[in-house]
Amino acid sequence: HAKNRGGNTYQFFSESMSKNAVRRLQVENQLRNALKNNYLQVHYQPKVSLRTNKFVGLEALVRLEIPDTGVISPSEFIPLAEETGLIIDVGERVLRQTCRDMSEWVAAGAVQGRVAVNLSAKQFLQPDLTKRIMTILQEEGLAAEHLELEITEGVVMDDPERAIEIMTELNNCGIHLALDDFGTGYSSLAYLKRFPIQTLKIDKAFIDDINGAERDRNMVASIVAMAHNMGLDVVAEGVVDHDQASTLNTLNCEFAQGFLFAKPLRREHFLDHIRTTLATVKNT
Ligand code: C2E
Ligand code: MG
Ligand code: MG
Ligand code: MG
Repeated sequence: HAKNRGGNTYQFFSESMSKNAVRRLQVENQLRNALKNNYLQVHYQPKVSLRTNKFVGLEALVRLEIPDTGVISPSEFIPLAEETGLIIDVGERVLRQTCRDMSEWVAAGAVQGRVAVNLSAKQFLQPDLTKRIMTILQEEGLAAEHLELEITEGVVMDDPERAIEIMTELNNCGIHLALDDFGTGYSSLAYLKRFPIQTLKIDKAFIDDINGAERDRNMVASIVAMAHNMGLDVVAEGVVDHDQASTLNTLNCEFAQGFLFAKPLRREHFLDHIRTTLATVKNT
C-alpha cells in the first residue's frame, strides 16, 4: 500500500507540474501570437481627484484577449514575458499605443494631465531606455510632460544606485515617476527619500479594510502624511466604495483609482465614460 501511495503522490506532483508547464507554454505561445498579429490591447483606467471628483489622469493597462478563447490576466503573462524576454516587445507596443492614444486625446482637448505606463524590471534596466522612450514620444507626437512611468519597489531595489541614475535621467526629460504598489515591497525609507519620484501609489491591500480596521486606517494616514512631507502626490489604488473614498479624503489622500470610479476601459469607451459617468459620481 505504501508503495502505491508513493506512486500516486509522485504521479500527482508530476501531473500538476506538467499542467503548469503546459499552461506556461500556452500563454507564451498566445503572447507570441498576439505580438506577431498585433492584437495586444491597452485599456485605460481613470484617476480622479477625491476633492473635486474630477478626472485628473489615467493609467494604461495591457490586455491579452485571445480571439474566441478569453482573457489572460497581466498578472499571469507579464511575469512570463519578463522571464522570456518578450517584455521588451510588449512594453514597447504598450508605450507606443498609449502615446498614440494620449496624443490624439490631448490634441482634441479631451484629456489633460498624465497617462501612466507600468514598467517592469527588464524594461527599466534597458541601457537605452530614455532614448527609446523619447523616440516613441516624438514619433507619436506626445510631450514628455504628459507621460508618467510606474515602477514597483522590487524594480528599483534590485540596484538602487543605478535606479536613481535612470530615474534622474527620465526626470530630466520631463517624465514623471510613480512608485507603484507602495507598501508591499521592501524599499527602505533611506532610499525612498533619495528616489526622484513625484507620486506614491498606495497598494489596494491597505485600502481594502480602511474602514474596518483602525490599524489600516492609521497606516494609510501615516503614508499620506509622510508622502506629503516629502512633496509627493498620493494615489490610493483599488477604491471600490464611497466610504473608502470619503475616508481617504478625510485623511488628505487627494487622488484615487478603482472600480468605484471606473474599471479599465478599452480605448473606444474611455472618452465617453469620462465625459458622462465621472461627472456624476459625487451625486450618487
Ligand atoms: P498595477 O499597475 O498595480 O495596476 C492595478 C491593477 O488593479 C490593475 O489590474 C487594475 O485593473 C486593478 N484594479 C484597479 N482598480 C481596481 C479595483 O477597484 N478593484 C480591483 N480588484 N482591482 C482593481 P491588471 O490590469 O490586471 O494589472 C495587474 C498588474 O499587471 C498591474 O498592477 C501591473 O503591475 C501589471 N501590468 C499591467 N499592465 C502592464 C504593462 O503594460 N506593463 C507592465 N510591465 N506591467 C503591467
Ligand atoms: Mg500601476
Ligand atoms: Mg499598483
Ligand atoms: Mg499591482
